[in-house]
Amino acid sequence: MKTNLEQYSKEDHGIFKKDIDPDVLTISDTLISNGYQAFVVGGCIRDMLLGKTPKDFDIATDASPPEICKLFNKAKIIGRRFKIVHVYTSERKYFEVTTFRSDVKKKTNEKKFKKIQGMLKRDNVYGSISQDAFRRDFTINSLYLDLDSEILHDYVNGLDDIKNKKLRLIKKPSISYQEDPVRMLRALRFESKLGLKLTSECKQPITEMAHMINNVSPFRLFDEILKIMHSGSAVTGYNKLKEYGLFKYLFPYTNKILSENQIYNDFFIAALNNTDTRINDGLHVNPSFIYAVFLWPYFQELEVKYSDDSSSGIDRAFKKVMQSQGEYIAVPDFFQSTIFTIWSLQSSFLNLSSRNVQYLTEISKFRAAYDFFYIRSQIDHELKFYADKWYEIQKNVKGKKRERGKKYYGKRKNK
Ligand code: ATP
Ligand code: MG
Repeated sequence: MKTNLEQYSKEDHGIFKKDIDPDVLTISDTLISNGYQAFVVGGCIRDMLLGKTPKDFDIATDASPPEICKLFNKAKIIGRRFKIVHVYTSERKYFEVTTFRSDVKKKTNEKKFKKIQGMLKRDNVYGSISQDAFRRDFTINSLYLDLDSEILHDYVNGLDDIKNKKLRLIKKPSISYQEDPVRMLRALRFESKLGLKLTSECKQPITEMAHMINNVSPFRLFDEILKIMHSGSAVTGYNKLKEYGLFKYLFPYTNKILSENQIYNDFFIAALNNTDTRINDGLHVNPSFIYAVFLWPYFQELEVKYSDDSSSGIDRAFKKVMQSQGEYIAVPDFFQSTIFTIWSLQSSFLNLSSRNVQYLTEISKFRAAYDFFYIRSQIDHELKFYADKWYEIQKNVKGKKRERGKKYYGKRKNK
């Protein structure tokens, strides 16, 4: 790994100020005119270099969190272990401003590492820009753009990696993944979403280290899996999760059933294709949907097992799924209730009586439950007849709702 600083002028890197949010320019100007350093860094620089529109802009500086706060009208320090500052530029819009940090190797013994569940954690202390560059995950995420001089600072050969479409960890891969096993998920997300290729040194240790993903907080994993599934490349992401041996540690119960019954794999691919299409068309996707999909095989297995329990069988099966899976990935309560509705309504789609039609179409999660049923019908052809009928029904419902909406808004307008 080359460690010397390379600096690129705007002619060389090709990022233009016009592509950067004007609020970011203002924040950067404020920091620089007060004698601090300020750089735009991370995913936004990477995305712009790859010709993609960045989701958000992050700023790194040598000003400390209290110093940052002094410079802006509305700024809030957040985070306990690492303090970062949210600088608000309007009521709801803020940017993350982070003080340069360094990884400091403390003389912590092996026992202490184990205590924190096998993860190597180091205290983060403030540092210089070069130290900040080396504490990041991938070379492509460690490029710093100075908005004053428009010079791009590259300590890790990230620009060459971007040009060569290579995804490379900054640190030795085994150490990097041990420090933070989420980097294995980030690796496959960037590969899938950005079309980059993980270098063989970075790819090879994943299979051996995949089990370490279970050292990560189940709440954090909920978010990270969603990021993969909502990246617009969910099918590729899912295939990579399996290829790298991570899926079995994330969804162990589903994985066991999957190895015995491949039909669920087809169901997953159909559902993820649907999600990819929605995301790429800019449509809304409900986070519950992905988890309803991945946990469906396990729920079905338990539903059969508990079916003697009469009506409480579904409740018991649902609780058991959430409880067992929650040790690996924790689904927040809010999303659990949608998943329950989606699952518990599935059998109702086999009943086409007018009473049932009326009942189902009035339920708020009807559409989500129908979408789920529709995807099931693509795999299970016995359901196709019902899915087609419900397609017509929901089209009419949509029409009626639109009519009702028109009347309602029409009245309001006249008042
Ligand atoms: P995206 O926003 O598209 O998910 P990103 O790279 O911007 O990608 P963020 O989570 O927004 O991801 O993080 C911002 C930056 O912080 C990254 O570009 C990287 O430099 C650093 N970073 C994020 N997560 C880690 C991590 N687990 N280990 C080391 N550095 C990280
Ligand atoms: Mg980001």
